[in-house]
Amino acid sequence: MILLKQNWESGEVMTDCIFCKIIAGEIPSAKVYEDEFVFAFNDISPQAPVHILVVPKEHIVSADDITVDNSHYVAKCFEAIAKIAKEKKLENGYRIINSCGHDGGQTVFHLHFHILGGKVFSGF
Ligand code: 5GP
Ligand code: ZN
Repeated sequence: MILLKQNWESGEVMTDCIFCKIIAGEIPSAKVYEDEFVFAFNDISPQAPVHILVVPKEHIVSADDITVDNSHYVAKCFEAIAKIAKEKKLENGYRIINSCGHDGGQTVFHLHFHILGGKVFSGF
């Protein structure tokens, strides 16, 4: 199974992470995209007409934990984001958000990127 292969890559097996469980199919999700490195699914509490979470299949806690050894997952996430945006016809643009750590408002501690689209954003 791909998830286990990726966890073996780091030697880390997560048993108590909601996004690891979603990737493993142990918790249902509305899957949007999947490849060897990335899993993407609709956010359960959408903040825009399109709200997709793009998640590496490696349990990286946050953007603050990206290293030379795992940054290829980040590149794969951004490759997936471009594919998903085309699939979802977000040709006029979209917002990519990452919440990093407590002060960044992160609530799920498995690295993920939000794709928000289908509306016009301005400022922060
Ligand atoms: P954060 O707050 O860490 O930036 O983003 C976490 C996101 O995960 C939130 O937008 C929240 O709605 C979403 N989320 C939390 N639990 C679940 C779940 O079980 N399923 C799905 N699809 N999204 C979830
Ligand atoms: Zn995880």
